[in-house]
Amino acid sequence: MSATSSAVEVHPLVFSNPAFKDHEQVVFCHDKESGLKAIIGVHSTVLGPALGGTRMWAYNSEAEAVRDVLRLSRGMTFKASISGLNLGGGKAVIIGDSRTQKTEAMMRAFGRMVDRLGGSYITAEDVGISTKDIEHVVKETKHVTGIPIEMGGSGDPSPVTAYGTYMGIKASAKYKWGSDDLNGRKALVQGVGHVGITLVKHLTEAGVEVLVQDIHQDRINMAVNEYGATVYEGHYADAEVDVYAPCALGATVNDDSLSRFRCSIIAGAANNQLKDENVHGNEVRKRGILYAPDFLINAGGLINVYSEIAKYDRNESLRRTEGIYDTTLEIFAHAETKGISTHNAALNIAQERIDAAKAASK
Ligand code: NAD
Repeated sequence: MSATSSAVEVHPLVFSNPAFKDHEQVVFCHDKESGLKAIIGVHSTVLGPALGGTRMWAYNSEAEAVRDVLRLSRGMTFKASISGLNLGGGKAVIIGDSRTQKTEAMMRAFGRMVDRLGGSYITAEDVGISTKDIEHVVKETKHVTGIPIEMGGSGDPSPVTAYGTYMGIKASAKYKWGSDDLNGRKALVQGVGHVGITLVKHLTEAGVEVLVQDIHQDRINMAVNEYGATVYEGHYADAEVDVYAPCALGATVNDDSLSRFRCSIIAGAANNQLKDENVHGNEVRKRGILYAPDFLINAGGLINVYSEIAKYDRNESLRRTEGIYDTTLEIFAHAETKGISTHNAALNIAQERIDAAKAASK
């Protein structure tokens, strides 16, 4: 599953799956009455409970769903670590079309499955899942965040994710061009869903000429009518822009797109943007494109829901999310010093914190 889904190779198994990286637990969930088919991936609980959203997507195969949950849950481990949060990494996927197949009964059945894990996995929103759905999940389990504000939670994490991503784009501009003033720059936002639309808002307010792309016309209309964005019809990698901001699904940095990119910066909210992290992080670097690691700059939503676990404070969340700017600059500098990809630089720093916690617990 990806924004280039037809090109993704999939693997049907778990332990021998190339995306399996020492995950602690992978749970397959089924509820006949509601039609729920879900997979929960708990990659690591070293730093704390595994918190990560639930994605609902009409996967082409079960193997695609397995691969997605394995990749996404691992990404959460590194996201929490690099953001300095005491959380592990987990994620869930529900197999189905969120626009036509999602029901209250299904979300409640999913909530019961989450509850059975006793808090080792905490869920929240992701693609295809909104605060409205979380309202149903919360009826079945307390291990859920991103609860609507009216119910005492922190609400939809997406605006904070978008704000953090915007911080990451500004930091990228600063590193690449010596100034974080985005006025007059041009960007393509691919996917104008919950996160993408707010990113469009921040970018247009900063004076950026914004092109947008989405598979749903209603989302495109919103970006055009509310923020004056321009529709982009071509292949995303061919867009003549300064910044490509992937905010749809993953793996858009791949063998095909790499040779086509015209942008100077890749910085967006989508998870797992590099189709193969062992290859494509280095390849973007070789081409002189600055890549802002996805799990670093899209951590705003996680930071926001994390703060809900103790006592929610929106200002504190936003202040902490602004820290993404400095961390991004540090990662870029570290990558340059070490001569490694920005993705690996971020990964190494995140892993160091996990290793230290493991060593301290022995
Ligand atoms: P969303 O479902 O609200 O939006 C995704 C949008 O992408 C939709 O409008 C969809 O139509 C569009 N889309 C799907 N495939 C596309 C394609 N091939 N080309 C163009 N558009 C396409 O999801 P979201 O919550 O905005 O999340 C977007 C991305 O950011 C996801 O990868 C998600 O995992 C990641 N992310 C989200 C959050 C959050 O707080 N919501 C946090 C961290 C990361």
